[in-house]
Amino acid sequence: MPLSIAIVGAGPSGFYSAQALISRGIDCHIDIVDSLPTPFGLIRGGVAPDHQHTKRVSRTYEETAQQEGINFYGNVQLGRDISVLELRSLYDVVVLAIGTPLDRGLDVIGGRKRGVYGAAEFVGWYNGHPAYRHLAPLLDRKEVAVIGNGNVALDIGRLLVRTREEMNVTDMPDYAIEAIQNSPITDVYIFGRRGPAEAKFTNVELREIGQLKNCVPMVDPEEMPDEIDPNLSDRDRRLVERNIATFRSFAETDPKGKGKRLHFCFHSMPMEILGDDRVEGLRLQRTQIVDGQAAGTGRYYDIPCGAAIAAIGYRMGPIEGVPIDLRGGHVINKDGWVAEGLYAVGWAKRGPTGVISTNKSDGDIVAERIENEIPLGSKPGRPAFEDHLRARGVRWFSFEDWKVLDENEKATARDGAPRRKLVDIDDMISLINRSQGVASSTSE
Ligand code: NAP
Repeated sequence: MPLSIAIVGAGPSGFYSAQALISRGIDCHIDIVDSLPTPFGLIRGGVAPDHQHTKRVSRTYEETAQQEGINFYGNVQLGRDISVLELRSLYDVVVLAIGTPLDRGLDVIGGRKRGVYGAAEFVGWYNGHPAYRHLAPLLDRKEVAVIGNGNVALDIGRLLVRTREEMNVTDMPDYAIEAIQNSPITDVYIFGRRGPAEAKFTNVELREIGQLKNCVPMVDPEEMPDEIDPNLSDRDRRLVERNIATFRSFAETDPKGKGKRLHFCFHSMPMEILGDDRVEGLRLQRTQIVDGQAAGTGRYYDIPCGAAIAAIGYRMGPIEGVPIDLRGGHVINKDGWVAEGLYAVGWAKRGPTGVISTNKSDGDIVAERIENEIPLGSKPGRPAFEDHLRARGVRWFSFEDWKVLDENEKATARDGAPRRKLVDIDDMISLINRSQGVASSTSE
């Protein structure tokens, strides 16, 4: 009997796992389940809308999805429509490819004031994620603070200062373009608690900041290190040297002629969100590096800002039937193995690090493990799963349904844009029903 395999999560790690299972020639049926009606996870909802070249990788996932034996079930939510325990009772193998969807909390005084956002919600908002499209962030002041020195902080900073022309050719929803373009934002501050040598920006993304149409990067040359940590590997040293060279070139850039500024502020640890009920400013403590970590110096400074966006990493929340390392924010696993027939891949396995292609090797590893550890199928899989969904009244989306949405999004795009994203699940259901000649929005 073929193995029945459920992969929960239709992002990169889910699709790479499905492809690896198929490529090994394992006799199996694979059902890829996602809480959203739309596939591709972080490619659609996380990768910045002005990075369409990165989003193109979804074409590979599309080929995987259309292979014999693979089905997509969108709009099926773990916890709401089915539990991990139920999935495990129906499938021989369950692979958790669910990412780390929550923000790590910003632990500062006043961190719950209006105008404080986590990257998961802010990125979700500008990317048209149905759960965050109503965020309506406070963007009514000239200054915005972004906390964190990783690529997500760069994405957010960059998108807050792009011109309308730059945004129009992306798949950013109209509401986000209008909110940013109608805002008075002129200065975005990106705060790192350590120095430029410790920043996690990749160099291509950092250099992109120097090429923005109406924004100039600002950095204090005094912040540049005199020497680079001699204990770094050659590879890491080269990466740091490249970033430092880029920062030095930023420091020499003439700010005249451009209307907006993106300030890189190092050795600055957020301490307090200022203001009464909403963000009016940010208090930071100057730091020095002690044993590689940021240590406070007892010197403070304030900057005014109307919003503070924390891009300080992601985590997982609790999931019934899954052991979670709450500190690391991911599933407790041994090289992908969680329990008999239960595996984790991608950020759910490793935590939120690495680039999209890092997920490929997770897929290869899990496929090899499944081949060796679960040779024979015994559970009903797909038909029993569909019975379960029908009994719960779940309106699931197939990959063919997604293709209808996809065509609609492409057909309604602004001039020069790749698509106009549908951001409302009810609208997606109505569209599919209309395409199928169904009058009401119930049943599958
Ligand atoms: P990240 O690269 O791990 O960066 C997190 C940043 O937050 C670090 O600078 C960290 O500082 C800082 N931080 C953590 N806790 C903090 C606190 N309490 N106060 C102040 N700062 C704090 O994470 P990310 O930016 O979320 O990115 C996640 C992954 O996705 C990364 O692997 C990234 O490269 C990838 N990604 C790639 C792209 C791209 O290739 N274009 C785009 C987006 C994301 P410390 O270093 O001091 O801990």
